[in-house]
Amino acid sequence: MRVANRNILVVGLARSGLAAANFLLARGARVTITDIKRQEALQEPISQLQGSARLSLGGHRLEDILNADMIVLSPGVTTQLPELLEATRQDIPIYSEVELAYRFLQGRVIGVTGSNGKTTTTTLIGELLRKSKRPCVVAGNIGSPLIHSVEAPDASQSPDTNFVVELSSFQLETIDRFRCNIALLLNITPDHQDRYRRFEDYIEAKQRIFLRQTSEDFAILNADNPHTRRMRDQLHSSVLLFSRKQSLEEGVFVQKGMIQANWSGRRLELMSIQEIRLPGSHNLENVLAAATVGLVLGLEPQSMVQTFQSFAGVEHRLELVRQWNGVSFYNDSKATNIDSASQALQAFTEPLLLIMGGQDKGGDFEKLHPLISGRVKLLILIGSAGDQIAGQLQGAAEIVRARDMKEAVRFAQQGSIPGDVVLLSPGCASFDMFDDFEHRGRAFKQAVEQLGSVPAPSDGSQKQTSQNRDEPEHPSREHTG
Ligand code: ADP
Repeated sequence: MRVANRNILVVGLARSGLAAANFLLARGARVTITDIKRQEALQEPISQLQGSARLSLGGHRLEDILNADMIVLSPGVTTQLPELLEATRQDIPIYSEVELAYRFLQGRVIGVTGSNGKTTTTTLIGELLRKSKRPCVVAGNIGSPLIHSVEAPDASQSPDTNFVVELSSFQLETIDRFRCNIALLLNITPDHQDRYRRFEDYIEAKQRIFLRQTSEDFAILNADNPHTRRMRDQLHSSVLLFSRKQSLEEGVFVQKGMIQANWSGRRLELMSIQEIRLPGSHNLENVLAAATVGLVLGLEPQSMVQTFQSFAGVEHRLELVRQWNGVSFYNDSKATNIDSASQALQAFTEPLLLIMGGQDKGGDFEKLHPLISGRVKLLILIGSAGDQIAGQLQGAAEIVRARDMKEAVRFAQQGSIPGDVVLLSPGCASFDMFDDFEHRGRAFKQAVEQLGSVPAPSDGSQKQTSQNRDEPEHPSREHTG
């Protein structure tokens, strides 16, 4: 792909937009950047631009779009903007940053998508490769734009380099030639209903991970998820399944508490599921998926087993923050949808004090009713979705409202006794109160770390009931997903 002297419009100046703009500037493109935010709100990314780009901020203008030879779209911006629909009508190509990066990278691409478990599994696959001393780069939606790996090619970038790329449905919407040598689709459950009008549109976006695969490539699908299982007959690549519920003729599965594999006429017994360090059946699925990738890559089973025995997970995903006075505090701030919150609830047998809430994404909280009922001693709600959650979960548990994270943690601590678990698993986006889920998770951890060092207020801090609430007012922001 030639970019020098071409008019390229970067839409959205968040992490990947900034990386794409710098990449293009370094290669002599004429770059214009547009964002709905005004210049004042974009000081930081603007200060990191390495070259002279034209800025067209505070909205998207049709003339910028129609003047472009190519558009690089941030995942936080929908392709359904009227200006972008016009660009499509005029055959102006619209690509995600991963598509741009793909045109310049050398190596094998292992793409990972799904509604939940992407980051955990992407990280785990990276660990498997590192342990086996295979050259590897972990990038994408995980927080490090893929284009960075192309921008600063290190000595390891060669046809043997394995690029483990986490892909969101938003990124997949605007890929074109991006081809995964191995494509992993972990699961599909309702998410991002604020952006996808129909569930089918979301499924279609996820399925695009297989778009350019040929018979030389591998597709790995979750046999236990109805939406992913039924794709098996629609793909051009070799399909392998993983399952924690049924044995498989070709794939990786659990039988009698052991992880087993049938693969290329070989049968393999990998390890007991008791030895896996990550908690919860959802993480067992992530391990099975990563093991399937490992087998396709020809990694040594023994080395994979060692990784699964030691890998403790990723920050903000069922992360044990502290045990204090016999109570365990877990940070699952990354549970931004109903399914991930439901997985977290199922990962514990102890009595729970659950902190939920944030910015709703169109989720149906009633689904959590049976998991909360009888198991959650106290449900503490934060954020703008509080009313909705309280309405949908009425009767499932005692419900209180907290003004901020500090207060939520204090209510949880006051209501707990030794043996309980305090769990932050919001089931919502974070943008009403925080910059992102990491900021939310850090606020939780900080409040937990301060327990015991800050004297509890003696008066005036009554728990707020759902009738007596104080809604924080924070602007929502454009975000990636
Ligand atoms: P993603 O990158 O897809 O958001 P993460 O690995 O960051 O996935 O995990 C996000 C949330 O989903 C966490 O709360 C985690 O505990 C939960 N989770 C992880 N893996 C799965 C899975 N396979 N199925 C359902 N939930 C999962």
